[in-house]
Amino acid sequence: MAKNNYQTPTGMHDLFQKDLEQFAKIEQLAKKIADFYGFEKIETPILEFSEIFEKGTGLSTDIVEKEMYSLKTKGGDFLTLRPEITPGIVRSYNQGGMQNLPKPVRLWYLGPCFRHERPQAGRYRQFNQLGFESLGVGHSIIDAITIQIFYSLLKSLGFKKLAVEVNCIGDSQCRGAFRKALTNYLRAKSSSLCADCRVRLKKNPLRVLDCKEEKCFMVKKNAPQCLDYLCKDCSNHFKGLLEFLEELEIPYTINPYLVRGLDYYTKTVFEIIEDTEEGKAQGSLAGGGRYDGLVKLLGGKDTPACGGAMGVERVVNLIKARTKSQVIDEPSCDVYLIQVGELAKKKALKLFEQLRQANIKTGEGLHKDSLSAQLGSADKMKAKFSLIIGQKEALDNQVIVKEMKTGRQKNVDIDKVIKELKGKI
Ligand code: ATP
Ligand code: MG
Repeated sequence: MAKNNYQTPTGMHDLFQKDLEQFAKIEQLAKKIADFYGFEKIETPILEFSEIFEKGTGLSTDIVEKEMYSLKTKGGDFLTLRPEITPGIVRSYNQGGMQNLPKPVRLWYLGPCFRHERPQAGRYRQFNQLGFESLGVGHSIIDAITIQIFYSLLKSLGFKKLAVEVNCIGDSQCRGAFRKALTNYLRAKSSSLCADCRVRLKKNPLRVLDCKEEKCFMVKKNAPQCLDYLCKDCSNHFKGLLEFLEELEIPYTINPYLVRGLDYYTKTVFEIIEDTEEGKAQGSLAGGGRYDGLVKLLGGKDTPACGGAMGVERVVNLIKARTKSQVIDEPSCDVYLIQVGELAKKKALKLFEQLRQANIKTGEGLHKDSLSAQLGSADKMKAKFSLIIGQKEALDNQVIVKEMKTGRQKNVDIDKVIKELKGKI
């Protein structure tokens, strides 16, 4: 590739203007919700030891098998650019002694994740996740509140047609029986599965239910359902969750084949999508569930936990499609500062700083000399007023304040100009 034609790596994007504006808005809203529910913000490193994903996310998941960016450092450590943030949060919970805090320990985060996936609509190799995690409480009311948080966040962001899918995938007590039934069923149909799923069938048959291939979709339609194999504890937990969701008036559907692509989930799993053509093309906006075994798996005490994450880019894509907002904004200002002559340039430079301090959005062409070029920029930037300092005004310590719409103008002392403008913009 020619040197002057460098591009971002495949599946990675620059964020700019409208995107960043939306990101900031989403973060602000998330912070408001987090404050209300008592979540503390946490930032964990983008690189973690590969082992926490291999152990946590799971060796036979797509994420770990195919999608991780891993590297060996000069010091010989094996690190991975995080494909998701939950294992890092749990690592931090164990490392930072958070076990001793009052339960649940509630944490939220926003940051980049990396997955070497095939890029397509809503699927990138670097993307941002916004997540909420509650550690230390096993009660299903925590699962309901987790779902409620993502549901209300998306509602507040203007999503009207949201579909919430929930399922219960059991725990170490009942998963075995289900796995056996599923394996028997899938074995009989293995010739109809995609090549990946034939391997999954051997290593981790539950993953077949998460496959997005049409072929496998047909097979999974008649597969045994986890819900029929739940132990008493899981079954009560799920019943409890559904009752809480009804109380919260969250319109959910039970999807008995929802398993989600991570190994650590126990009991509850959920996904939220926008139920429109565009929404379905983007895929799930948020997803999560309960992970009662993960804290222990990563070296901590036996600790139940539940959480979820939202894909910020997918949300922003849909907001942009909805509002049809332009990607690039023309710069605009309230006043435009014009100067002609050396002395005027100096006076304008000083006034520019005073305008900044007064919080007045100011455009300028301080590097320019021509009056007409500067007036042209003032028009382009849709300034309400131009402030013009010519040679005469500079000597008299005055500014011409010109209202752009009417062309009306008057001379004002340079030290009174901010006061003059204040009531008018
Ligand atoms: P999918 O089923 O679409 O592959 P996932 O189950 O892999 O999603 P999670 O691991 O649960 O997704 O991540 C939570 C959220 O992060 C998803 O709901 C989605 O909004 C977002 N997300 C996941 N992968 C990507 C990606 N490659 N690009 C953009 N956003 C993503
Ligand atoms: Mg995925």
